Amino acid sequence: MLTGKRALVTGSTSGIGLAMAKALAGAGADIMLNGFGDKDEIEATRKSLETDFGVTAYYNGADLSKPDQIEAMMQDAADKFGGGADILINNAGIQHTDLIEDFPPEKWDAVIAINLTSAFHTTRFALPFMKQKDWGRIINTASAHGLVASPQKAAYVAAKHGIMGLTKVTALETAQTGITANSICPGWVRTELVERQIEAKAKEGGISIEQAATNLVSDKHPSKQFVTPEQIGKTALFLCSDAADQMTGTHMSVDGGWTAQ
Ligand code: NAD
Repeated sequence: MLTGKRALVTGSTSGIGLAMAKALAGAGADIMLNGFGDKDEIEATRKSLETDFGVTAYYNGADLSKPDQIEAMMQDAADKFGGGADILINNAGIQHTDLIEDFPPEKWDAVIAINLTSAFHTTRFALPFMKQKDWGRIINTASAHGLVASPQKAAYVAAKHGIMGLTKVTALETAQTGITANSICPGWVRTELVERQIEAKAKEGGISIEQAATNLVSDKHPSKQFVTPEQIGKTALFLCSDAADQMTGTHMSVDGGWTAQ
């Protein structure tokens, strides 16, 4: 389905981003990975995409809090892909929890930079190539927190609501082209980002990790089940398909019923 397409997935060295990269590679897309982690593990991941799916996979380790590194990554993608990414998935993200009055300003800046501003930069560099080809898919990993709020997550909720807005503007500016822009809004997915929150809750309540995980998911998901990274990967794949040609400026919630309440 995606043979001949090239996809840049930010924050794809683990969790949801890696699952999306695998889903797209599984459909034949060449991939550029991005994100932090152990050098050897990242190289093993890159190689396994090539061997498992028969695609070409690259890695760029740009720190997405740094606009100059984002620009260099986009140039690298343009060079390696020979003309820019056809599919851009803005997925890199971090979390920090604190009450607003205790929220360290530098943490606010980091969350906004990585979860929101980086997507503005990647999108502005990717669009000219997509417009040239009259085809493109921009998928922004937002969150249930792009639709509703929770306490102690001021920066994250602001960034995720912001990226929903950026998605809509991108969609309007490309509406008469073959480019679409949409967000995916996952509920709880048990990745590194969430594991740290589960550990904190376990410590806080003097309960086991598994009990804390059950409490966390049950509190928000009527389904009482976690979403899996693979389910988000398949959602991204759907947004890249012909079936989604006329879907733009909207979002897909995959949240066990969280935002239906
Ligand atoms: P994760 O921690 O496994 O993945 C985050 C990725 O972002 C990693 O590859 C990490 O290296 C990368 N990253 C972090 N800072 C970076 C930086 N400065 N520059 C480049 N890369 C950087 O967590 P995840 O849960 O897979 O998160 C992926 C996205 O999904 C995030 O945007 C997150 O907000 C969103 N999300 C997660 C959940 C969840 O429950 N896990 C729910 C909704 C939305």
